[in-house]
Amino acid sequence: MHYYESIIETIGNTPLVKLNKVTKGIPGTILAKVEYFNPGNSVKDRIAIRMIEDAEAAGILKPGGTIIEGTSGNTGMGLALAAVAKGYKCIFTMADKQSQEKIDILRAVGAEVVVCPTNVEPDDPRSYYSVAKKLNQDIPNSFYPNQYDNLSNTQAHYDTTGPEIWTQTGGEITHFAAGVGTGGTICGTARFLKEKNSGVVSVGIDTYGSVFKKYKETGEFDSNEIYPYLTEGIGEDILPKNVDFSVIDHFIKVTDKDAAIMARRLAREEGLFVGWSCGSAVFGALEYARQHLKEDDVMVILLPDHGTRYLAKIYNDNWMKDHGFLETRSFATARDLIR
Ligand code: PMP
Repeated sequence: MHYYESIIETIGNTPLVKLNKVTKGIPGTILAKVEYFNPGNSVKDRIAIRMIEDAEAAGILKPGGTIIEGTSGNTGMGLALAAVAKGYKCIFTMADKQSQEKIDILRAVGAEVVVCPTNVEPDDPRSYYSVAKKLNQDIPNSFYPNQYDNLSNTQAHYDTTGPEIWTQTGGEITHFAAGVGTGGTICGTARFLKEKNSGVVSVGIDTYGSVFKKYKETGEFDSNEIYPYLTEGIGEDILPKNVDFSVIDHFIKVTDKDAAIMARRLAREEGLFVGWSCGSAVFGALEYARQHLKEDDVMVILLPDHGTRYLAKIYNDNWMKDHGFLETRSFATARDLIR
């Protein structure tokens, strides 16, 4: 018999898949690390279980405890699955701009969701950050993982994502690219790969409206760089503790539109039905690859999550047109077909 003791054991060991069509004309071998194969459909399962197990080891989280985090998406799902398997309760605070679907998904896996107003400052007592912190203070035996500043996040990638990629490429990897949000993915993975081979180059993918690229290049925290954008999961208006600029060699910024169009191409041309920031990662990485890769190089691009979360957005033609991302309808209508 071969079975897993619980869903937790199925986290990680995700496949590497070669990109064949979107890479046409670009030198080198370009591979995608497809993280939607994790049980919660995202890379965040890796850090969720690690933050929980590190808190258990430190005595911060004890049997019967409650996990509290301000999250709208992938990290919540990862924490909820691990909490079910380990017998913890979960409370997530979310801003009310998030879709009902996202709330329903987290409730489906047993979490309690507290909906908070969107249009208040982060330090307002009603914000989802403040409510999460207050609940953590008020509820005994509760644990607030804080994925931005909790270094178990980076460590999860140093211990799992990095070694997996090193083994899967037989040590041939020359370039690693990933989107940067909390910074855990790129910093943990790149630190491991650079320790194995200091020549491995890491490329961080940032969004327009985020501070990372300018900070790396000038050392200046420029608030003019901060403005609203749509891509979910990457870019920040803060510097999380998990971002270690010393292991990110280059940053490339990608627009919401270029990311959305590339995600749709990955679905249709590669059969990879992936999330919006996967489009950012591939678009940015290929821009770098076009200029710098040689024929013998091996680039790995990490794709964080699945496309289902974005059905009402980038995979909806009307939404794409409303945002000026798509000029013409790309699906044939019934009328086109019978004409
Ligand atoms: N893409 C998506 C969809 C994410 O949820 C995240 C996590 N914020 C990232 C990219 C970036 O990963 P990290 O936080 O490890 O930098």
